[in-house]
Amino acid sequence: MHLTSFIFLICAALITSVLCELDYYKVLGLSKGSGEKEIKSAYRQLSKKYHPDKNPGDEDAHHKFIEVGEAYEVLGDESKRKLYDQYGHEGVKQGGNPRGGNPFGGGGFDPFASFFGGGQRQRQGRPKGHTSDVRVDITLEDFYLGSDLQFDVEMQDICPHCDGTGSKDKETHTCSGCQGSGMKIMKRQLAPGMFQQFQTTCNECGGKGKTIKNKCSHCQGEAVHRNARHFEFYMEPGTAKSHIHIFKGEGDHSPDWDSGDLQAHLEESSVRNLGYRRRFDTLYRTEALTLKEALLGDWKRDIPFFGDDSVTITRNKGEIVMDGDVQVIKGKGMPILDGPEEFGDLIIEYKIIFPGGAKNYKDSKLIRDEL
Ligand SMILES: [Zn+2]
Ligand SMILES: [Zn+2]
Repeated sequence: MHLTSFIFLICAALITSVLCELDYYKVLGLSKGSGEKEIKSAYRQLSKKYHPDKNPGDEDAHHKFIEVGEAYEVLGDESKRKLYDQYGHEGVKQGGNPRGGNPFGGGGFDPFASFFGGGQRQRQGRPKGHTSDVRVDITLEDFYLGSDLQFDVEMQDICPHCDGTGSKDKETHTCSGCQGSGMKIMKRQLAPGMFQQFQTTCNECGGKGKTIKNKCSHCQGEAVHRNARHFEFYMEPGTAKSHIHIFKGEGDHSPDWDSGDLQAHLEESSVRNLGYRRRFDTLYRTEALTLKEALLGDWKRDIPFFGDDSVTITRNKGEIVMDGDVQVIKGKGMPILDGPEEFGDLIIEYKIIFPGGAKNYKDSKLIRDEL
């Protein structure tokens, strides 16, 4: 490869990676201290301004439209905005675990049992327990209609048989080895007459400062056990597809710490989407037409929609549809969160099936980014 073109490629790569990191506040023309209302109204104005419907064929506007939506998906969500303010893009990507790693661990996917420890932060006195995470798969239909979500997650709970003492008779005794401090002062002789003093965890109570006579048979003296805990919350129609719902203090329980939170990460599942794809408040779908339909018109279709509803599309006799034509159906997109009965739009893109060729079934500009 020619040297200059090689350098150009490197520069291009660098620029791309820099451009990827959008400043979401700038995208919406706001500053960090902006309130919820300002964010929402900036989003509404800009998404109207750059809407594909108003800017047909304008790549730039289309790009801005996507950026504005992306910024709002983070800044319009209290918990994500906090992560973004604190840790930037990484924080949002990692779901509040900026030290890296996939929050759901590797391997097989079990929606109700994947966790990662968030580490323990020392507060004054009792330590704070770690944050736990669970992934909840939601269908697009439930995102559209809203849903009472209910699920069980196996969490660590205080053993109910011994009330978290680990003791069969629920009695605990101050450890005689350390007088309850959990630590022992040890002396080591370095040379005749020379001693080194050091502190170590008490071996008689394991640092707990308390001992028990007989272990609780249910938890084997651990004071905690794992147990299915039930969770429910109402998910509003139009909730963002990667919303994080926080259950305060519902992390693993232990007599040794103040419980952290359980974070439920909502994820859009690939089933029951009826062929629709979602990008923020906008729904997209691709409709295939035969060449005959495209050229002659005179057809009508009822497409299934969420909540047993349907969308009717039709063309009169002689109305031609071109491959890649886009039709915007107002108000048939996703419900706008907190908006009184407001909905985004549905964008239908037509694909003409030409006789003899799947090769003509190419991606379109409009939906390319979405897919
Ligand atoms: Zn002890
Ligand atoms: Zn027990």
